[in-house]
Amino acid sequence: MANQNDSQLKNQSAPLGIYASNVAKSAKPTRRALWATRAALNATGAHSGDELKRQRACGRDNLGSEVAIVLNPSTETAHAAGLETCGSVWACPVCRAKILSQRAQALQTFADGWANVGGGMFMLTLTVPHSADMSLADVKGKTKDKTGLTGALRRLFSDGSYRRWRERLGYVGAVKSLEATDGRNGWHLHAHILLFTDNSRDTSAQDEDKISEIWARVCEKAGLARPSRQHGARLTHGGAADYVIKWGAPNEVMSQSAKGAKNNNVTIAQMESDVLANGRDSRYVSRLREYYLTMRGAKLITILGGKEFREQLRGLEDKSDEELSAEKEMLEESIVIALIKPRLWRCLYDRRLVSHVLDAAESGGYAAVRGFIKRRVPHWLDEVRMPDLPER
Ligand SMILES: [Zn+2]
Repeated sequence: MANQNDSQLKNQSAPLGIYASNVAKSAKPTRRALWATRAALNATGAHSGDELKRQRACGRDNLGSEVAIVLNPSTETAHAAGLETCGSVWACPVCRAKILSQRAQALQTFADGWANVGGGMFMLTLTVPHSADMSLADVKGKTKDKTGLTGALRRLFSDGSYRRWRERLGYVGAVKSLEATDGRNGWHLHAHILLFTDNSRDTSAQDEDKISEIWARVCEKAGLARPSRQHGARLTHGGAADYVIKWGAPNEVMSQSAKGAKNNNVTIAQMESDVLANGRDSRYVSRLREYYLTMRGAKLITILGGKEFREQLRGLEDKSDEELSAEKEMLEESIVIALIKPRLWRCLYDRRLVSHVLDAAESGGYAAVRGFIKRRVPHWLDEVRMPDLPER
């Protein structure tokens, strides 16, 4: 398998190589790794400060007098209910994994339907020049001032030549998402744009030449250096599967260490797993904090195009009320397995034992949850109870 991957990588052109670290090679992250990583970000101070207090509270602080361990009978998975949830795709590994996997599925379904009726899809990756002395805020820029990547994108979307270029492709709409990696040359922030077209023709070298030229021009206008032909814009014929890998990858590569990153570029998830492995000694604690604070409030996913197109993909953008209420409904159908007092919950969270409790609930219900607590934190045994027993 490793050999196959190596040969696949060799066949890619050099510029694509910078994304090699995004290619999913390992299995889905375990719930254990995600919960432990969030607790580690909290413990090391990566989530410190007022701006990130919701991330510190996420999964840790109770809303009511007890935390419920519930089992969804249709999926046979256990969840904890009655807790603060931050819902951040930027700063929380647990919420990010949950939200992005839902959205990846929704996009995949939409894209399959699109391809079935003869539509096409292209992936456009836009990167801005950057150097090690630039902060992430510098690279990102400001929408208002039309600087940095944000500004360059804004200028691009209103640019006449760009509009004519995409018309020729048969453009109908697009999904744009942002991704950051960190490396020798500092923050590498880039946009992935999945273009939906009304035909399934392939792209030509001229299509890429043209967009590269337009992109270089808008980057300069946005106060950035002129990107090279090689590193600025890349246009590939690709479907949703290639695209959502960019969302899924941060979680899929979770178990890989930052050291294994290609070309010294590390993804956010790799930095986070380094914090999990090395605690306060990780060199990524402050880097991650910078990322969380800078990206906060930005949209991870944006739908572009006419009203009708945007309407069809509305659910992919920032978390809507409907999504939240759908989650609530899901919980209402669930069976309560155990109720845990906040003090015990906090102890489980700090000791990174929450996922063990969820595993126990799935494998053996209340008896297994109680058994686990008795084994690991026996002095807290009075703090867990069955829902149908009267309160002591
Ligand atoms: Zn969260």
